[in-house]
Amino acid sequence: MPTEELQQDAARYMMQTYTRQPLSIVRGRGTKVYDLEGREYLDFVGGIAVNILGHGHPDLVQAIQRQAAQLIHTSNLYYTEPQVKLAQILVEHSFADKVFFCNGGAEANEAAIKLARRYSHDRYGAGRFEIVTMKNSFHGRTMATLTATGQDKVQKGYEPLLQGFSYVAFNNQEELERAVTDKTAAIMLEPIQGEGGVHVADREYLKQVRDLCARKDVLLIFDEVQTGMGRTGSLFAYEQLGVQPDIMTLAKGLGGGVPIGACLAIDSVAKAFSPGSHASTFGGNPLACAAGLAVCHALLDGRILDHARRTGEYFAKGLSDCKARHRVVREVRGLGLLQGIELDMDAKTVVSECLARGILINATGEHVLRFVPPLIISEPEIDRLLETLAQIFSAQAS
Ligand SMILES: *Cc1c(COP(=O)(O)O)cnc(C)c1O
Repeated sequence: MPTEELQQDAARYMMQTYTRQPLSIVRGRGTKVYDLEGREYLDFVGGIAVNILGHGHPDLVQAIQRQAAQLIHTSNLYYTEPQVKLAQILVEHSFADKVFFCNGGAEANEAAIKLARRYSHDRYGAGRFEIVTMKNSFHGRTMATLTATGQDKVQKGYEPLLQGFSYVAFNNQEELERAVTDKTAAIMLEPIQGEGGVHVADREYLKQVRDLCARKDVLLIFDEVQTGMGRTGSLFAYEQLGVQPDIMTLAKGLGGGVPIGACLAIDSVAKAFSPGSHASTFGGNPLACAAGLAVCHALLDGRILDHARRTGEYFAKGLSDCKARHRVVREVRGLGLLQGIELDMDAKTVVSECLARGILINATGEHVLRFVPPLIISEPEIDRLLETLAQIFSAQAS
């Protein structure tokens, strides 16, 4: 169906929750996607940090096909091997001891919030349920997670919000110290704020947060929905930032494009969940977990993680050079293959200009471009993006 017709039908039949680019994608291969006319686009969005192995990765496709033919779904009334194996692999490669599976990032954070409340309730009784989160954060769109999200635009019109959340400035230890009270159950943050414009947590700050949590027996929750699964060049961002959380959430890259989320925790915390205290019909279904296993195996054989780390450094350096040459670039921020640049111009314009030149990029906020390509992106492909950006910025300056 031609894009224009699709746009009209979408306007007619679908709730208008998204601002979409005028592009309908029909096929993907590696780091490229294709529209109906066969036009090729270099993908620096990767389904918003989801398609970490690129499009059509043979191992992932085969794992999904095999599992689909064998068993797609059966519920959590029974055991399935892919689910247990995926939990094992995540535990063996992280700080965590136990995993709960769900279907996406918001659900993973819901699980984390519920787990923290339950843990605190079991240990300290009612009344100690508050969760401190960060301004400018993003944790999802359900009622609990939009309340956790420290952005007015996400919360507006949905009041009353959930009780028991407070917000502090990111990377500000003093504000956090003041916000933690005897009612605080947990502190929740993204090691790198993604949707909020690519802001990296300071190592020293995270160390102080960890100390504070230890002193007050407050749980530390890392939302690694965007930063996890190799995005930053290590399997999880916390490994590079030098601080371990008590609870961590994953989604986006975990299934390589198949919807799945996970909430991981250390044993003493995970024990707060018992049979019946939390659940999900689809959570950890065999199809999603088979995809998750294929993704984990691809990442853990090492080459993709190493590649992501090296290309991430190459990319960051290229963006810094771009900043040195173009005054419109105010700042470069990021880690690994989660990179952002803050601009003195409307970011949306650059997104459109890149689209017209066959490159998909994404803006978070009015002035920030965010790059979250598949982890298999190559240096020549990064060069192509950098050259394209240079052309756009030069044209803007003249
Ligand atoms: C995308 C994202 C979410 C929400 O994930 P959904 O799968 O859209 O519910 C939560 N936290 C972070 C950090 C994210 O980047």
